[in-house]
Amino acid sequence: MATLTMKFGGTSVGNAEAIARVADIVQEAAREHRVLVVCSAMSGVTNLLIEAAQRAAAGDSARYQVIAQELRQKHEAAIRALLTSDVERIAIHDEVEALIDEFETLCYGIYVLREASPKAMDKVASLGERMSVPIVSALLRQRGIPSCTVSASRLIVTDDQFQNAGVLFEESEANVRRELLPLLDQGLVPVVTGFIGATRDGVVTTLGRGGSDYSAALLGAYVDSDEVWIWTDVDGVMTADPRLVPDARVIPVLSYGEVGEMAYFGAKVLHSKTVQPLVERNIPVRVKNTFNPQAEGTLIVRDERETPGTVKAVTAIRDVSLVTVAGRGMIGVPGIAARTFSAVAKRQANVLMIAQSSSEQSICFVVPEAKSREVVAAIQSELEAEFGRQDIDRAWADDDVEIITVVGVGMLRKHGVAARVFGALGEAGVNILAIAHGASDYCVSMVVRSQDTEKGVRAIHRLVVLNGGGAKA
Ligand code: ASP
Ligand code: MG
Repeated sequence: MATLTMKFGGTSVGNAEAIARVADIVQEAAREHRVLVVCSAMSGVTNLLIEAAQRAAAGDSARYQVIAQELRQKHEAAIRALLTSDVERIAIHDEVEALIDEFETLCYGIYVLREASPKAMDKVASLGERMSVPIVSALLRQRGIPSCTVSASRLIVTDDQFQNAGVLFEESEANVRRELLPLLDQGLVPVVTGFIGATRDGVVTTLGRGGSDYSAALLGAYVDSDEVWIWTDVDGVMTADPRLVPDARVIPVLSYGEVGEMAYFGAKVLHSKTVQPLVERNIPVRVKNTFNPQAEGTLIVRDERETPGTVKAVTAIRDVSLVTVAGRGMIGVPGIAARTFSAVAKRQANVLMIAQSSSEQSICFVVPEAKSREVVAAIQSELEAEFGRQDIDRAWADDDVEIITVVGVGMLRKHGVAARVFGALGEAGVNILAIAHGASDYCVSMVVRSQDTEKGVRAIHRLVVLNGGGAKA
């Protein structure tokens, strides 16, 4: 019997009707397969939890109580609509109620201290998944499918970098195999909380926003799944953001490399770390629509020969800033680049791309806009002596930029693909400020003025993506 890991995102468990569809899907799959379920919080819940904690930390004692009420209603409505047996309904009601009490206690503590530490934030943020999972599992039981909930804090061991914890793979794998395999062997469908983990001491952590995809990938890999299915609210991975590009299409087959690049460059398809645990074990991923389960979805595989076409997608990243360090005396002075980037790293700014500009007398790179001032200040202090000697004239950040990334395997190897991309931008009248080919063969990124992003994305989609890149292999 094949083992399938199925992850349901926030909208897929967003209300009673959606949860009923989830149960249909799992019920169908469980006829022929061993099924492991991973769930997100009901849609909007994680945002509400985080907002409540932040407002409490800012001294607002009312907002979290209003949110508690909202959480109660949202979960209660689903419980009442779905669970017909008194025993289940009361048990699940009590379980959710206890979690909301915990939420209020935590927020009160945060309010009193006027401080929400990353550790406290994770404790609060983890409550969403802890509330959604019992409802799903109870509904499966009601339908006659043996099921139980398992908290991922017993499975996924992480470091203590709260809010974006790093997973300790070996320990996590051992836990997952010990806890989940026997359940699957007994024919149960375990329903596990996505998004959360715990330190070795058992303190709750989270894997970063959107992290339940990553949870599913880890759990799926560790129970030797044949496939991991990510159930969401769109028909699959799209060639572009449909809000930007109305004729965006579903991509039938993609490689891990391509999807990794897309996630990194802002396409809201999968959490960017998701594919890592699956690559080495060669476990395919399917992205499917809970609200349209008949649609094929997107299949993500390792073998790049199975993915037709060259240019698969075009994405945009907003809220970035182009930092430039320039000066005549930079040439031939060793170590400037290294010191620049170490200054950036100390500010924990993620360098999204290192760009090549027309002049050699400068280094430029892209960081999240929120970090741009800090990064420039850090560079100025790190290179103070060089500024003094005027080896470096200036370091500055330009916030009025965005990145357009074009993704597809063989982009650089195949003749003429990059040229077509630049040609499309030229035709649309979009000026390219900087280009990065990236270290991989999967993408080319261009920095453009913010006002040009939409135009550029549409032109590339129309002229390049829709005809598969138009390149000869
Ligand atoms: N509930 C979490 C979030 O909203 C994790 C997830 O949905 O993947 O970020
Ligand atoms: Mg999500």
